[in-house]
Amino acid sequence: MHTRVDIKRNDQVKVITGRDKGKQGRVLRVFPSEGKVLVEHVMMVKKNVRPNPQKNIKGGIAEQESRISISNVMVVCPGCGPSRIGHKMQGDRRQRVCRRCQAPLDKK
Ligand SMILES: [Zn+2]
Repeated sequence: MHTRVDIKRNDQVKVITGRDKGKQGRVLRVFPSEGKVLVEHVMMVKKNVRPNPQKNIKGGIAEQESRISISNVMVVCPGCGPSRIGHKMQGDRRQRVCRRCQAPLDKK
């Protein structure tokens, strides 16, 4: 099944299902082929870090975001909160809009 990826880097998204349900954050990276995104402060996992004195890295446990399925998040419209993405043609450009209030989701 082909999934169109409408989420972009720096979008505000809200987690709607899963372990981190209810959390909100900024999209750090999009992985279109996997249908996943990396969201700031969401799906944090602990990771062992090896000490590397040359890079001045102390060993220990660091927390890091892990990928979450795009179907588990919704884009947050500034006006009405988490909502579905619609599209509107703006000249020859397709613009992403909130499906509820039609507000544009892309900043220039
Ligand atoms: Zn809206």
